[in-house]
Amino acid sequence: MKTTTICQGCWEQMHVPIVIRGPFSIPYRLMGIHKSQMHPNLCTICESSFTKVKKQKQIVIDTTILFADLRGYTHLSQEIDDARINELLHLFYDECSKAVWEMEGIVNKFIGDAVLAVFNFPMVRNNHVQNAVEAAFQLQKRCLNIKKEIGLGEEHSLGVGIGVHTGHCSLGEVGTSYKDFTVIGSVVNIASRIQNAAGSGEILVTDEVLSALNNSITVTEKRVLNLKGIDKAINGYTISQNGTANTMA
Ligand SMILES: [Zn+2]
Repeated sequence: MKTTTICQGCWEQMHVPIVIRGPFSIPYRLMGIHKSQMHPNLCTICESSFTKVKKQKQIVIDTTILFADLRGYTHLSQEIDDARINELLHLFYDECSKAVWEMEGIVNKFIGDAVLAVFNFPMVRNNHVQNAVEAAFQLQKRCLNIKKEIGLGEEHSLGVGIGVHTGHCSLGEVGTSYKDFTVIGSVVNIASRIQNAAGSGEILVTDEVLSALNNSITVTEKRVLNLKGIDKAINGYTISQNGTANTMA
């Protein structure tokens, strides 16, 4: 990933150059403006001063949401010691972040053994659906070696399940005493639910994602999903690149 000297979010959203790297970033750091944890090319204004910047608490925009979850983690946490579990989560967070950042998405949250990534804000990209799907493929590839890296054998099952959905989402600050920058709405809920329905090593996407991809990927299976809390049945598609399956060694 190419790192930038100024914050890409502030530049694209407001045309304001906020320096986040190099000697000219020192005055900004003294003012309390740092690199964002959500993406190394963004700054903390992008997450914490959202209300001031956009002059509203929430904005509704087209985004693509990616949820990924480490399968086998709960079981494994009962079998191996805390140090190795820590190492496992560390590697997972690291590989997820790299895959998402590379495709200019933000890592909005890590929730235990799961990640929520958002594409198309604050770095606006016309091909945000393609970017999110590419990040999903990269994430699966990057996680293939995690098991070996922490020295787990064949007897342990570990994999990643991914769900991707796209549509209008509400993005912004929630709460007053405890402020949280996050994305909400039915698109997020569906993305989360289809991620639950994805098996280990699978990437499950919706009709909306598939139609944006223009046959650039291979659909390996179609499933009709009745998801918890979602009224209508939803079509889920497992996808692969050039017909290759994502299985963890
Ligand atoms: Zn910024």
